[in-house]
Amino acid sequence: MKPAPFTHDCPGTLAEAAKGLDADNAKVIAGGQSLGPMLNLRLARPSTLVGLAHLDELRSIRLDGDTLIIGAGVTHARIEDGDSDVPLPSMLRHVARNIAYRAVRNKGTVGGSIAHADPAADWTTAMTALDAVLVITAGRGKARREPMAGFMQGAYRTKLQPGEIITGVELSAAMGEAHWAYEKICRKVGEFADAIGAVVIHPGRKYARVVVGATEGAPILLDDLARTIAGTAKRPAPEAIDAALAAQLPGADRVKRQLLKTALVRAIEKVIP
Ligand SMILES: Cc1cc2nc3c(=O)[nH]c(=O)nc-3n(C[C@H](O)[C@H](O)[C@H](O)COP(=O)(O)OP(=O)(O)OC[C@H]3O[C@@H](n4cnc5c(N)ncnc54)[C@H](O)[C@@H]3O)c2cc1C
Repeated sequence: MKPAPFTHDCPGTLAEAAKGLDADNAKVIAGGQSLGPMLNLRLARPSTLVGLAHLDELRSIRLDGDTLIIGAGVTHARIEDGDSDVPLPSMLRHVARNIAYRAVRNKGTVGGSIAHADPAADWTTAMTALDAVLVITAGRGKARREPMAGFMQGAYRTKLQPGEIITGVELSAAMGEAHWAYEKICRKVGEFADAIGAVVIHPGRKYARVVVGATEGAPILLDDLARTIAGTAKRPAPEAIDAALAAQLPGADRVKRQLLKTALVRAIEKVIP
């Protein structure tokens, strides 16, 4: 199928992009790797597409003090390649390398993936595990900041308001020293996840996060398991993992729960051998 007709703006500045979104039924397009198929299937019918690809402001990767700021328009491929003047946490490079295929990674962006909020996507889970904060603007006034944890409200639902653009993702640079594991279960390389288990521990900062993703909704933080790991430096008992997943996902079918458990057990075993 072909998309319904639309006009396509290619603004040169973020302010112009934000203004372009004032048009009725306008939508931004970044890499087009998720939006393109939706247009073709006519699941999305914007009258105007506002392209973000030419905005240098969204493409930088930089350090501001202790904060690593990754522009929303940075592609998965650039993260995979470590293509930046500042060092990128190895977890980010690992996650990027396992998203789709290189052709998709060349175009798809971090901001587009997070805004799209596919439950099986990788960045939403990874950025939740790393305690990332999203920088969001509507073009006027000050940018607002929204923690990644809680930003995604369900499948394809986020806290983004109409007219808002994610401009970047902020991470503590200290996450580069954290112990981490990211286990993605999928049928074959290059596919979306059936289950994701992510663990990030920074003993010096007393930071521990345990997250499961590809849950059919938003990524889920398992705080009790994280506290157990932080407090004991031991692997939680399998029953505790079962109980944590059952409490968070009472309606999930047994196969999904088993996949999530397997991903999580593998991740925990990597961080606590
Ligand atoms: C074959 C295939 C396999 C894939 N496999 C995986 C996978 O294994 N893991 C994975 O995580 N992803 C996967 N993807 C998705 C891919 O990572 C996309 O790149 C990503 O989901 C969308 O990013 P994009 O930059 O292309 O966004 P677009 O498609 O351009 O936009 C997606 C949505 O986000 C909005 N948007 C884009 N940028 C912004 C912004 N800065 N602020 C606000 N809203 C914005 C758009 O309006 C649109 O609604 C796959 C895609 C394909 C085609």
